[in-house]
Amino acid sequence: MELTRDALEIPETLKGKYEPVIGLEVHVQLRTRSKIFCGCSTRFGDPPNTNSCPVCLGLPGALPVLNREAVAMAVKAALALNCRVNSFSRFARKNYFYPDLPKGYQISQFDQPLAEHGWIEIRSEEGQAEGGPQEKGTKRIGITRLHMEEDAGKSIHDGFPDSQDKSYVDLNRSGTPLAEIVSEPDLRSSAEAYDYLTRLKQILEYLDVSDCNMEEGSLRCDANVSVRPRGQQELGVKAEIKNLNSFRYLQKALDYEIARQTQLLERGEKVVQETRLWNLEQQKTVSMRSKEYAHDYRYFPEPDLLPLAVSDAWQKEIQQTLPELPDAKRRRMVSQYKLREYDAEVLTASQALAGYYEKVAAAGADPKLAANWVMGNLLGALKAAGKQIGESPVSPEALAGLLALIQDKTLSGKMAKSVFEEMLSTSESAKTIVGRMGLSQITDSDQIRDTIRNVIAANPKQLAQYKSGKTSLIGFFVGQVMKETKGQANPQKVNELLKEELGGA
Ligand SMILES: [Zn+2]
Repeated sequence: MELTRDALEIPETLKGKYEPVIGLEVHVQLRTRSKIFCGCSTRFGDPPNTNSCPVCLGLPGALPVLNREAVAMAVKAALALNCRVNSFSRFARKNYFYPDLPKGYQISQFDQPLAEHGWIEIRSEEGQAEGGPQEKGTKRIGITRLHMEEDAGKSIHDGFPDSQDKSYVDLNRSGTPLAEIVSEPDLRSSAEAYDYLTRLKQILEYLDVSDCNMEEGSLRCDANVSVRPRGQQELGVKAEIKNLNSFRYLQKALDYEIARQTQLLERGEKVVQETRLWNLEQQKTVSMRSKEYAHDYRYFPEPDLLPLAVSDAWQKEIQQTLPELPDAKRRRMVSQYKLREYDAEVLTASQALAGYYEKVAAAGADPKLAANWVMGNLLGALKAAGKQIGESPVSPEALAGLLALIQDKTLSGKMAKSVFEEMLSTSESAKTIVGRMGLSQITDSDQIRDTIRNVIAANPKQLAQYKSGKTSLIGFFVGQVMKETKGQANPQKVNELLKEELGGA
């Protein structure tokens, strides 16, 4: 029995009674220029079937040659994910038929994968410790294995005038190198799964081993989900949800599937082991086929490839190319710049953003002020313009220049915002704009006091009301002074001096 959309919500009582168990399998395309076993280009978006050769078309007699760069990238990812890289691993044939798989088998790895036993740290309210020193509120999600394989081609079922009754095959993708990263069933909610995938993607982006573009299919996610009564050790029967190609679908599909299985168990019915798909239109998972088992694929060692040897020396060499990873960068930035945990989290979302921020700080800006401006004004403006941090019209040095003018009180926060607007459209320095627009904050007490006296003299009625107890009129006087000074008077000073000049009410 399928649930309706409304059934997505499970009552709190049932949430306490049952526990979801989730594991993710993530396929990531490695960004080599050529394919894993031949010299064909991996460029995305080329005309269909233009990047193919006897090897990736699976023609008889063609022999695969392993791409060293693909191995280096997979090893790099494995090391960053805290995996143990096996000095010997082996490729295996996974036999199945599909129109986009011309060989009739996929070269993958089976019983001897490239790397095993890794982990990623995620945020978790449970925060249960499973070995190793961890921060509070974090949880370690095990990575069972990372193995290499080739991608299949692509079947295209729509987008053509005659696609009602025809499908097309594009083999450009056939043979693109993939790393498959399999997690332990350690995730306990859709939110944890979301966080795991976010962090995994972030690490892979930092490593620059994949562009992780989910829309183009460079990062694809399958989820294994089961539900069991809380306290039970034994795992429930799981369903696999295929092709969750956006973070939102992942979360929605998991929530739906957890609710569906919970209700089946609650009614005393059985969960069937099967493969399901997220149906976007119906907003639910639907059965695709009964789950296949490893033995269905008749794996056997790939006879055309030698075992893959990764020497200690090569591993060390790759280890040395690892950049500072997101967690380490976040911790360093918290201690170096005294940032809040949350701010450091936002600022390390990408290497480019963190790099931008650090340049602003290095140019002399107050680290906290810089963090507020980068996260607020700058990211807001870039988002509105649909731009990435690398395309910012305001350079880090220019932003630091603006912040210096706030720090030395040349500009009020409000004036700085208008200068910043101008910087976004002209890419001029803050100083140039301040000079050109005749801006700069009036902080001179005598000058402000003169203006205040004029304003008070010009508004005797309001003065009398103020004196008789209507103290809220202070806002009126502040407004008048700011108007007279074209917004350039330091508001804090105006307030102070006004109170003096108006005297006690
Ligand atoms: Zn080829």
